[in-house]
Amino acid sequence: MTFDDFEFEPRLADGLDAMGFTKPTPIQAQAIPIILQDRDLIACAQTGTGKTAAYLLPILHKVLLLPEEQRHLTTLVIAPTRELAVQIDQQVEGLAYFTGISSAPVYGGGSGVTWGQQQKALVEGSDIVVATPGRLIALLQMKSINFSHLKHLVLDEADRMLDMGFYDDILRIIGYLPKQRQTLLFSATMPPKIRKLASTILQEPEQITIAISKPAEGILQQVYLANDPQKLPLLKHILKTGDYGSVIIFSSTKDHVKQLEREITRLGFKAKAFHSDLEQPERDALMRDFKNKQLPILIGTDILSRGIDVDGISLVVNFNAPHDPEDYVHRIGRTARAENTGTAITFINERDQRKFASIERLIGREVAKLPLPEALGLGQGPGYHPDRRPAGGPERGRGGPRGKRPGPKSHEGAAKPPVDAPHAEAGPKPPGTGKKRKRSRGRSGGPKAGNGTPPTE
Ligand code: AMP
Repeated sequence: MTFDDFEFEPRLADGLDAMGFTKPTPIQAQAIPIILQDRDLIACAQTGTGKTAAYLLPILHKVLLLPEEQRHLTTLVIAPTRELAVQIDQQVEGLAYFTGISSAPVYGGGSGVTWGQQQKALVEGSDIVVATPGRLIALLQMKSINFSHLKHLVLDEADRMLDMGFYDDILRIIGYLPKQRQTLLFSATMPPKIRKLASTILQEPEQITIAISKPAEGILQQVYLANDPQKLPLLKHILKTGDYGSVIIFSSTKDHVKQLEREITRLGFKAKAFHSDLEQPERDALMRDFKNKQLPILIGTDILSRGIDVDGISLVVNFNAPHDPEDYVHRIGRTARAENTGTAITFINERDQRKFASIERLIGREVAKLPLPEALGLGQGPGYHPDRRPAGGPERGRGGPRGKRPGPKSHEGAAKPPVDAPHAEAGPKPPGTGKKRKRSRGRSGGPKAGNGTPPTE
């Protein structure tokens, strides 16, 4: 699916190009058609999934279809914090850059000047208002804003708004809005209170849920507890004893990747490092050799974990735990592609145990911890510390423990980890995250108040 399938108004398509969005994320692919059909929607999706554009794009498209004089204050987005309100407003600015649609942020805190600017902007008339609940109520009560022509209401991060105690405020705000409108509710979690709110303010909503990211079922995940000097002999043992075709080895830094290339080559294996110091033709040649099985082992940093799509990688080794739990999912996702099976082995030393605990929390299960093979004569690994695992420790992983666990711990009966891990499947994490385009165009929507680092409402 591409954005062309939605047949957006051409000026909006230009905005998409300028933002560098080429392919809809899963939440966008699912939500956009529903919103274009004027249906109400409950969407369970987290930040990072592209959820903001999932509602902004179809709304902007529909606003563009209105005659210009009817666009004024047709859309209200309510968000829990001013940081989020600013981000949403910036995304409107980027996507709507070529359309002439204007937006204004309305949030608490800040100085009297900001307050005045916000009011002025609203009075002058913007098409889209992005607001936090407290300040919006104040404006509504002062009759500084009139939403009698509102067509679209979005509640973003609705669960957070309720956590922050905004339930009654939201209902009060809705009392100022026309009953005939489209309402979209986005929330990372769906506790009963959100369902109750939804049943009060939405009409026959469609529902979509973007699943929490999980490694593919076909990946056998294992961990070896190994101190740094034990890792290389262990790797040699694994490569020698297993019947692996193509292997990728990950490490966190470019320098270590280069060092590993030397060490693994010295052990007698054909291995090459893939890193940003290589010229593009060198990288292309490495990738070609790896794909056509001339090169059995590729060593790289996380840049390799996102980009490459090579079939038949049967083993991924994480020489150390990645810093970001999400990178673990990306790294091990290089194997077991297209329904195949594969093995992902991670070496963790004492320091990495806490990091790995976060990974287990993200993937929602415990990964089998294997003791070092006795035949290697490497002695004991660092031992496993249950207190380094997240609260509510994960359940036992697939593959089960092989042999005796190195530490004195058993976690049978441990509670399941939280299901609403802070990560949702969005396909690849969209590029440009956090990198907002700077626009210098003068806009009819008034000043963008609140640049800098505003506190939460
Ligand atoms: P959000 O989940 O809305 O906070 O979006 C996360 C990031 O993804 C933002 O920086 C967006 O600019 C970016 N983004 C959203 N949709 C896409 C897309 N289709 N392609 C690339 N980046 C995107």
